[in-house]
Amino acid sequence: MAAEGEEGGLSGVNHVILVLSGKGGVGKSTVTTQLALGLVEAGKKVGVLDVDLCGPSIPRMLGLSGADVHQSSSGWIPVFADHDQRLSVMSIAFLLAQEDDAVIWRGPKKNAMIKQFVTDVVWGSLDYLLVDTPPGTSDEHISTLEALRTTNPDGAVLVSTPQAVALSDVRREVTFCRKTKLPILGLVENMSGFVCPHCSECSNLFSTGGGESLAQETNIPFLGRVPLDPRLAACLETGLNFSETHRDTSASTALSNLVQSL
Ligand code: ADP
Repeated sequence: MAAEGEEGGLSGVNHVILVLSGKGGVGKSTVTTQLALGLVEAGKKVGVLDVDLCGPSIPRMLGLSGADVHQSSSGWIPVFADHDQRLSVMSIAFLLAQEDDAVIWRGPKKNAMIKQFVTDVVWGSLDYLLVDTPPGTSDEHISTLEALRTTNPDGAVLVSTPQAVALSDVRREVTFCRKTKLPILGLVENMSGFVCPHCSECSNLFSTGGGESLAQETNIPFLGRVPLDPRLAACLETGLNFSETHRDTSASTALSNLVQSL
């Protein structure tokens, strides 16, 4: 294992990016995995830290369900998603006896686990560490920021769907970032229209343009729209895999702009 023998912690990590959403189910973990895969494709070495302790979905999305984290003398060795060890992943899901076990912890225990994920995982040298956070703004967000503070995170990518109700939650994320002085890299509008797999026509299931106008109004960059894509949904259900052609989706096309801007 490449990371064996290296020190635990983030001293070898160049960029730290948090992915935030105002509410659950809008595609935060999906955007995190797509961003990670896009960066790996661009030749970068990437780590994904899943601190969504009560709903960890990154391992399933990356086809890593049931994988084990190993303990070395320097700390936890993350799970590698590919043979070349360009994508490493750490999630509470790897530490649960059963993947579907509920994590019923009070705040201090969650906060201690987040700290351990940052300091005790042997991340090795990475170009990017992407941090998938729980939905909303909670204690866990504060703990994550505190644990990451010394790395001076590059900023946050905000994810929303186009509906007004999701967008109003994003306003709270914007306020949270501003209060905690976390730079906002921009907003991604996910589930923005449905591209028919048969005729390729895009239908807008929800209202349109909300993400872009919110971005304008709050003076943050609008990073682009990711349509609802049945092929992406199918890949995420079964677990994205490096040997599959999952990159050939409209979501990955939309996110490639973001990857290039990082
Ligand atoms: P969150 O992390 O915000 O809770 P997820 O990323 O887990 O949301 O996404 C919720 C569900 O929606 C998942 O089943 C995922 O497969 C699906 N999904 C998210 N974005 C898309 C998309 N652009 N196209 C198709 N399915 C999507």
